[in-house]
Amino acid sequence: MSTHDPNCIFCKIVAGQIPSRKVYEDEDILAFHDIQPWAPVHFLLVPKRHIASMAQVGPDDAALMGRLMTLIPRLAAEQGCNPYPEGGFRIVCNTGVEGGQEVHHLHVHVMGGPRPWSRG
Ligand code: AMP
Ligand code: ZN
Repeated sequence: MSTHDPNCIFCKIVAGQIPSRKVYEDEDILAFHDIQPWAPVHFLLVPKRHIASMAQVGPDDAALMGRLMTLIPRLAAEQGCNPYPEGGFRIVCNTGVEGGQEVHHLHVHVMGGPRPWSRG
């Protein structure tokens, strides 16, 4: 299942070569706290397999991406996002340089918690 890019920081986190504060893990997906949070809750969800960005996602990834996205409400609540509609959360998936992507391993940001946030 796993394609590992030895130069990729998130592949190194998946492999345990770089520490992270884990939020969730299963066979295909890892979630961990962002090292520079913008918001009281800020974690990232990544496929364990190296997929560079959302631009590489296709029909074969529908099940994986569906599972990744549908984990978000549960994990957001567990991490302290307040209930919808007064609370809620923001999902961001920067894609490519013009999309603001800095780490080229697909990741979905989940941000939430009481305002103000430091960004966004
Ligand atoms: P992006 O601009 O969407 O590619 O964002 C990459 C995110 O990864 C940023 O919010 C960084 O703070 C975060 N990040 C980079 N290195 C680490 C790390 N070692 N552990 C956790 N988050 C990281
Ligand atoms: Zn990677």
